Amino acid sequence: MNLNNYLNCIQGKESEYSLLLGDTDRIHAYVFETSKLPEIRGASQLLRTLITDEFDRIFAKHFADASSVDRIENDANPGYRIYNNAGSCMAIVPTKKVEEFVTAITEEFIHETGDVTITFVHAPLSNLASGKGRPTPGGRISEWILESNKDELKGYMKLLRFLQYKLRMEKKKKSYYPFTESNPIVRRCDHCGKRPAVHKWEYKDETEYICSICAKKRSEGEKSNILKIFEKKDDFWHNYKGEIPRDLDTLAGTSGNIGIIYADGNEMGKILFEAQDLTQFQSRSKEIEDSIFDSLNPLLKEHAHGDILPFEVLNMAGDDIIMIIQAEYILKFSLKLLSEFEKICSENLNDDITMALGATIFRAKYPVRYAFEITKSLLKSAKQFSKQNENKPQSSLSYLYMKSPIATFSSKEILDSYYRISNEYYLTMRPYTCDEFRLLLKVASKIREDSILTSSQINAISRSFEEKSLYSTMNFIKYQTARMNSSKRRLFRKIIAELEKKFNLKDLDGTDGLPLWGKRRIDGNLVNATPLLDVFEILEISGGGSSE
Ligand SMILES: [Zn+2]
Repeated sequence: MNLNNYLNCIQGKESEYSLLLGDTDRIHAYVFETSKLPEIRGASQLLRTLITDEFDRIFAKHFADASSVDRIENDANPGYRIYNNAGSCMAIVPTKKVEEFVTAITEEFIHETGDVTITFVHAPLSNLASGKGRPTPGGRISEWILESNKDELKGYMKLLRFLQYKLRMEKKKKSYYPFTESNPIVRRCDHCGKRPAVHKWEYKDETEYICSICAKKRSEGEKSNILKIFEKKDDFWHNYKGEIPRDLDTLAGTSGNIGIIYADGNEMGKILFEAQDLTQFQSRSKEIEDSIFDSLNPLLKEHAHGDILPFEVLNMAGDDIIMIIQAEYILKFSLKLLSEFEKICSENLNDDITMALGATIFRAKYPVRYAFEITKSLLKSAKQFSKQNENKPQSSLSYLYMKSPIATFSSKEILDSYYRISNEYYLTMRPYTCDEFRLLLKVASKIREDSILTSSQINAISRSFEEKSLYSTMNFIKYQTARMNSSKRRLFRKIIAELEKKFNLKDLDGTDGLPLWGKRRIDGNLVNATPLLDVFEILEISGGGSSE
């Protein structure tokens, strides 16, 4: 059967093709199950391979390759991948083979990870007509069909929205997840502490006993990493001679602190689902993905100077970035990432695009699973803050410096315990917009460069806030200012004036004596908050104040 005959065959048989959506379940629980870097890296690598290469392989096995029109033959079932990355996928596939395909992918996921499932939903495309005119020789048949049916395809956005909703419901309903049985007398895995230990692992003169799932993640993490993706897109990485960090302690460097960054474009779903048709949906998601790479890559290159990379990118797909980075770089890096993404993606999509970011700084020994959950909740509060000005959403970030290990998943709990003095007074103004945070970084570096305050002065002021009498603290700061020499006093007043202007600050009694307090909405309540301690903390995170 030639091509025309084939196209005639699918014309009028719309129900024979279905739109298929899939999304990987509980990705983060799998990736951050243990605090071992090779396992975290290996788990994300395994998931990435499954949703890209393995998905492609199984797809090709079930459906004829629609990439070349000439290869469509007699009983071929051409399928078309709209996207498959970031843990999810979308495709148009022949309805009669959809279940068989879904089963094959699901089995592959369980076989490879032992732990991760994927949820699929699908519905027949009722409007798919044949292509009009002739396809470009060698072009994708499905692209041609999509392109020449733009008007009819408008309905598919409705179908897509319905399937997205259905997918969310299915994921919520899901009650079965793979489970590895264990019993009380079996030795448990030294890493996850959950499953029976079946492998002996030698590392740094220590012998560890680990389960098969942790072992699989580890061997994957030792042979592969995300730089393979970067190498394909930028020769810099191909020629890069440095090493990737072997464990979190190495990544942390001398300070022993690392940070997780979780960044995510704001309102991206809305932008995608406002597309006119599937073709535009596909091109928009590609633009977003390219923007993520183009904003992240130059920043990573800036930090790739030593023998060992001070970061590890765990996920970079869709509109998401999850990475671990040496603590001293995290704040500047986060700010740059936000402003670069905002600029590049807004240009690419010709729209005002913003991003939100959560970052947690913690000791490399602290369980990464907790740190990630805290970061997730910081991201959520940054997202809400981004939307605060409805007319003009702004990129925002929130972050947390964990000074002592606390077992919690909630950033609010920790922020409250560190910075809430009373229901009305807070010693932090987080989250911040990019503009605000840029000023805090600038003020912090001024303090250091011009030696405006010594470390002991900073400590003394910080401690005085803990005394809980704000009036005496303000008097203490005024006293410290009075003791400075005239040039330092002038510089100090200058930075306070900059903060005052940006955050509309006042003195405690509403005068402009020492303007350190501004109104801020925190957890829905309007409270008094100061950015001064945040500036001090920035100095601490990025290597301390002046020692003089
Ligand atoms: Zn284990």
